[in-house]
Amino acid sequence: MDLPPGGYGFIVHSILTVGSVAFDSIKTPMGEASRVVGGAATYFSIAASLFTDVRLVAVVGDDFGKDQMDVFAGRRIDLKGLQSVPGETFRWKGEYSADLNTRETIYTHLNVFDQFRPAIPESYRESPFVFLANIHPALQGEVLDQVKAPRFVAADTMNYWIEGTPKELRAVLRRIDALVINDEEARQLSGEANIVKAARVIQGMGPRLLVIKRGEYGVLLTRENGFFAVPGMPLEDVADPTGAGDTFAGGFMGYLASVGEVTEAVVTQAVIAGSALASFAVAGFGLDGLLRLTPDTVRARLAEFKQLTFFEDL
Ligand code: AMP
Repeated sequence: MDLPPGGYGFIVHSILTVGSVAFDSIKTPMGEASRVVGGAATYFSIAASLFTDVRLVAVVGDDFGKDQMDVFAGRRIDLKGLQSVPGETFRWKGEYSADLNTRETIYTHLNVFDQFRPAIPESYRESPFVFLANIHPALQGEVLDQVKAPRFVAADTMNYWIEGTPKELRAVLRRIDALVINDEEARQLSGEANIVKAARVIQGMGPRLLVIKRGEYGVLLTRENGFFAVPGMPLEDVADPTGAGDTFAGGFMGYLASVGEVTEAVVTQAVIAGSALASFAVAGFGLDGLLRLTPDTVRARLAEFKQLTFFEDL
């Protein structure tokens, strides 16, 4: 696997994404950060833009200034679909347990997302790859209504929407190819404690591919004919897991789009690409780990993943 400078061949397969752009406050055993730029679509876009062109659809308030916008600057991220309106930006606060494996949401303030109606710019409508990052499922659906025959659609969600908007979420699940969620969410969504059974139940709701994120333990991919599993990279210094899931999704979708076709082999490579990027996201607070990334450090991490999982035939 290599990092393509501009997509394989001459065609660039863009990704359209909708999701939260946020101010996050985060507390982990390693420290705290207050009112830093975050949001599911932010992590996703920065990660995916390492592989291909990203078209971002989201909304921020007038408290989101130039300094904040700078996290997107100089990257392959088209901001035509990022609306700025009067009011406050989405805010979320999370606190992690001592082992970082669980977190409590202290608050979620939708703010400008409450009234947001995504208007997809004409130039975004033919995006072949679509990622519905974490946001109200009705908004995810409205984006799908406006795109023309995408080749591959994936989505993320979380407990907040599984509990709060189950009907709208079910409607989105029927329209997607892949769902990317964590193991706790998979259990909650399916009502099954066993993760294999949970996966089957969720596949019955629509998505033929299910990517279950298991935090430090890695990722389980469920497809029509079986499983593919990748461990998490064993890391000595983990500062903040926020955004690891969205970063994974960005690497996963970015790689798929950069190749341009969704075969079984490419999907397994994409799981590695996502895992590699996520391993950087957790090393710093907020976006720091991701913003520091270079193609060289990613390439080195991909080699480490190969070493981590390689074994001779027995
Ligand atoms: P992750 O750690 O991958 O689950 O993603 C954390 C990011 O999701 C943070 O940057 C939050 O701003 C964002 N987030 C948290 N709750 C929600 C929600 N209910 N809807 C949309 N985004 C959210």
